[in-house]
Amino acid sequence: MIWLVLLLCLLILAAATAATAARREARRTGLPAGALLYSDTGRPVGRIAPTEVGAEGVRQERPLVSSLLGLVGRPDYLIEAEGGVVPVEIKSTACPADGRPYDSHVAQLAAYCLLVEDVLGEPVPFGVIRYRDREVRVEYTDELREHALALLEEMRAARDAEEVHRSHDDPRRCAGCSMRDVCTEALA
Ligand code: SF4
Repeated sequence: MIWLVLLLCLLILAAATAATAARREARRTGLPAGALLYSDTGRPVGRIAPTEVGAEGVRQERPLVSSLLGLVGRPDYLIEAEGGVVPVEIKSTACPADGRPYDSHVAQLAAYCLLVEDVLGEPVPFGVIRYRDREVRVEYTDELREHALALLEEMRAARDAEEVHRSHDDPRRCAGCSMRDVCTEALA
């Protein structure tokens, strides 16, 4: 009986320690209000799943994996806020002058919103892209959700195709694309 009580105490202590570490990390990074659930950029908090040691020998969060969507991802942060879980993506670049985030950044954030819904079973009210100079709140609307699902479908089809070409004429999209340096059809 005594070992059961001891075990319970240890579990409570571990949960309290994790919660304190998460609160400290949230304060340190100045994230939106709410409890820190996941941190792939700062210190991992291991509240969704126990942390793991990565290939570089550093302790980190486990990726979110959805077999339903065929999607794996590591959001920079997940915040348990009022109304659901909020993904936060950190970008080292400045926000575009018109204040509108790059389409590729919104698509990436929307993919994390889909992952949160499927893996955690939690609603997502909005996401945040934090640029070097400002923070942009992106509402997770039905329209954005549908757009993200359509993009995933497009990517699946492209993966099976032998040759893939640019599917748009939008230089802004290329300007924010991580493949720009190696892409032969980039517009920016
Ligand atoms: S840089 Fe290439 S891969 Fe990226 S958005 Fe433009 S065309 Fe597509």
